Amino acid sequence: MGILDVVVAVGSVALLLRALVRRGPTPGPLLLALVFGGLGLWRGLGPGPGWLLGPAVGLLGVTVLDFVVAARLSARMPRTDPAEVKEQLLADCRRADGRQQLTLAVAPGGAVMMDGVWPDAVRRDAVMVTGGCPVCLVEEVTAELAGPEASALAGYRRDRAAGTNRLVVLRRRGDGWEAALEPVRASSRPHRPAGCAVHG
Ligand SMILES: [Zn+2]
Repeated sequence: MGILDVVVAVGSVALLLRALVRRGPTPGPLLLALVFGGLGLWRGLGPGPGWLLGPAVGLLGVTVLDFVVAARLSARMPRTDPAEVKEQLLADCRRADGRQQLTLAVAPGGAVMMDGVWPDAVRRDAVMVTGGCPVCLVEEVTAELAGPEASALAGYRRDRAAGTNRLVVLRRRGDGWEAALEPVRASSRPHRPAGCAVHG
């Protein structure tokens, strides 16, 4: 067994574990998975040890599955004007029986993730905004609810500029709202909107 087989085995198993641990709507590093999966198939079927086929087939299977799931989610995702999304969110957040908590994030692909907690429900929504910038939407809703001087807003902008994506968690506090930042659970790569003067 050569050094290449060891590298392929370690790489395939590492990528497979990574894919299994962080299942979600964001596929993992596709190219890397295809390269290691392909190398594993070649070595396992040909000149290398046959057991390389196991992790290679597993890795390729999980990668394809992740991709199909992500494509289906994206196809089903509503496409909405950002001004309309903002108006609905703010109206809901300002109603007494509306959202008690709102978690906003922009996924690396540009979808706006909106987790909501109501007095009697918990729901996760996602939209693709059309004709606008999803990052501006998150910043504007945060500024409207927690105030333009909220330290979480400054932190969100600073971390994004430094290359780290964040979740903005908005919670009701008395008559107002309070914002906090949390780390994203999947990929922390920030979305780069095309055509936004601020965030492009
Ligand atoms: Zn923007």
